[in-house]
Amino acid sequence: MSGNETEARVRAELVAYAKKMSAAGLVAATAGNVSVRVPGADDRVAVTPSGVVYDEMRPEQVVIVDLHGHVIDSPAGEKPSYETPLHCAILRARPDAGAVFHTHAPNVSALSVLRRALVPVMDEMVVYLGGTVEVAEYAFSGTDDLAKNAVAGLGDRAGVMLANHGNICVGRDLAEAFKVAQVMEAGARIYLDALKAGTPVELPSDAIAHGRAMYEARKG
Ligand SMILES: [Zn+2]
Repeated sequence: MSGNETEARVRAELVAYAKKMSAAGLVAATAGNVSVRVPGADDRVAVTPSGVVYDEMRPEQVVIVDLHGHVIDSPAGEKPSYETPLHCAILRARPDAGAVFHTHAPNVSALSVLRRALVPVMDEMVVYLGGTVEVAEYAFSGTDDLAKNAVAGLGDRAGVMLANHGNICVGRDLAEAFKVAQVMEAGARIYLDALKAGTPVELPSDAIAHGRAMYEARKG
């Protein structure tokens, strides 16, 4: 497959997953953004364009940037997402991550406003998220500080919450990162519901160790 064919496939796949994120209710309007490394060219990243409604997003509007967010190719003349510095910082810090979702999923965002870490209360939360999802220190949207704080809060796990904002989810590819985003939002909903009704009980430590081993095995 030529470089151009690879890039065309990556653009189409990125748009398909951005639409899935929107359809799943993980973002409102044009909020949120998605990025993925271009295979065979790890210094190239495809990122969703800024301010484009998901329903109308087309593959040629996807912007290719380098790992520092500089635009390499934008056939439709679109600007890369406002949160491109955040995506690039995560991809630079985590060579194992192939794709990044930034969502404003409602239950995750509510926890981020409470500044309350999401502890694993269901097995799949350890298996897919890698453990407790921390809340990164607050910084304003689009800033380098937000990117720095998110990297620190993410650690070696698959997700982090951004204080009073939303989250970052990573995976080896778009499919895995999307699954992480879905598991985190479902877990946050259960955790918040449980908090309203009583005191959530964390998983037993051997279950956390078992789930974490599965997370690490998949991460490779
Ligand atoms: Zn955001």
